[in-house]
Amino acid sequence: VDIVSLEKRSEVMRSVRSKDTRPELIVRKVAHSLGFRFRVNVRDLPGCPDLAIKSRKKAIFVHGCFWHRHQNCRRATTPQSNHEYWSKKFAGNIERDDRTMAAYRAMGWEPFVIWECELGNRKVLADRIARYLSKADGR
Ligand SMILES: [Zn+2]
Repeated sequence: VDIVSLEKRSEVMRSVRSKDTRPELIVRKVAHSLGFRFRVNVRDLPGCPDLAIKSRKKAIFVHGCFWHRHQNCRRATTPQSNHEYWSKKFAGNIERDDRTMAAYRAMGWEPFVIWECELGNRKVLADRIARYLSKADGR
């Protein structure tokens, strides 16, 4: 085994691991491990949910706390410079999220938002996902 291939391999391993820590992938993995079958990045549903089960009227959104302005979350910081740019940007994101959630309620669905800062405890996360996905249709 030569050094180059070892280095190459650890590079690949690192990239796999870092991809794996992306919030939406964590949520998919947990839902999958619970035995649910679902679609990902469902473009024909409002807001393109990260995970959806149409037959059960379930849509899960994994939201980054910064971009989606998680209330009272320490990750939802506001950059010091370009204040006007950021407040417009954030207001637009919040408005879009509100519209998306309203669209689901109009369809009789109750979408589920998981915040990035809530991914830490996998047991709690798994319980919440299991509870949401097991509930009867549209409730
Ligand atoms: Zn948060």
